[in-house]
Amino acid sequence: MNFIDTATIHVKAGDGGNGHISFRREKYVPKGGPDGGNGGNGGNVVAVADPQLGTLLDFTYKRHYKAKAGNPGGKNRRTGRSGEDITIRVPCGTVIRDKDTGEQLADLERPGQEVVLAKGGFGGRGNSEFATSVNQAPRHAEPGTPGEELTLELELKLLADVGLVGFPNAGKSTLISVLSAARPKIADYPFTTLVPNLGLVRAGESRSYTIADIPGLIEGASEGKGLGHQFLRHVERTAVLLFLVDSQSPDSEADLATLRRELQRYNPAMLEKPSMVCLTKVDVLMDDERESLEQAEATKRLQARLISAVSGEGIEDLKQALWPYIEHMRAQRAAEDEAQAPFQ
Ligand code: GDP
Ligand code: MG
Repeated sequence: MNFIDTATIHVKAGDGGNGHISFRREKYVPKGGPDGGNGGNGGNVVAVADPQLGTLLDFTYKRHYKAKAGNPGGKNRRTGRSGEDITIRVPCGTVIRDKDTGEQLADLERPGQEVVLAKGGFGGRGNSEFATSVNQAPRHAEPGTPGEELTLELELKLLADVGLVGFPNAGKSTLISVLSAARPKIADYPFTTLVPNLGLVRAGESRSYTIADIPGLIEGASEGKGLGHQFLRHVERTAVLLFLVDSQSPDSEADLATLRRELQRYNPAMLEKPSMVCLTKVDVLMDDERESLEQAEATKRLQARLISAVSGEGIEDLKQALWPYIEHMRAQRAAEDEAQAPFQ
């Protein structure tokens, strides 16, 4: 099961600065020569692969990227200052295409790998460059050339950072929908027959991650050839498992034990993952039910969180509480990548 996260952004490299027209003015020299300097080059728009990022969600919030123009040339043949490049950070594995032509511009796999997406314009030559023996006082200079401007399509294959585990009706799909940022334009690819059950969570700027229904993945894995490998990639990547147990259940601890056992049947390595436990649908609890649940030995021992997708209780806290696991996982993977292929 593969999900694709997509985003469309607009980039504009800096224009080149104009060449300058001027003439030397010196005491006692009636006609000074041309001394207009060249314009500076415009800044490039560069993309770099950042292993700390996991989704393209930030690009929903910022779509336009513009590098600075070069400064115009000045008197005394002074060259204008070049515009600075701007760097766009994308998750590793991001494929970038020119939206208009469909041409693939980059496939940023390795951490630190970078590519110039839009080239800055060139500075124009000042009039001092146009002096010839027949025209010693040229009155023209070149304008800078415009920076490249492109609409880009970004595409990233998503893997689950958080795996949800729970019985049918535990509230998995509902939780994914309330944790997810409103938008996700996620293409389900290429197994369109499987219902996508994956959400993009934004816990802050540059703090986004994916959450997926692991049993959903397990069903997929047992259905067809080829899915097994994809499933393993999801599991491998998962930073934390989130067990969901219905707060209405008569024995939440027994439920949890069953879930763990089932999970183990698919892949024993799953149980070595860090995990959290949530009791769902707490909005329907009566006061006394709630109290006894809070006081229950199992609740305390498992540090179970009480959440409700309906009232919103515990949802924001949960979103933030998951983040350190993802951050830790990404830092670890980045370190491994770096050990494999050091980059400058
Ligand atoms: P899943 O099978 O684990 O994906 O469970 P669903 O998300 O489909 O939820 C199962 C049922 O529980 C649905 O009828 C939901 O509307 C309901 N449900 C989910 N979360 C809550 C909640 O926080 N409070 C209440 N009262 N109902 C919920
Ligand atoms: Mg569901």
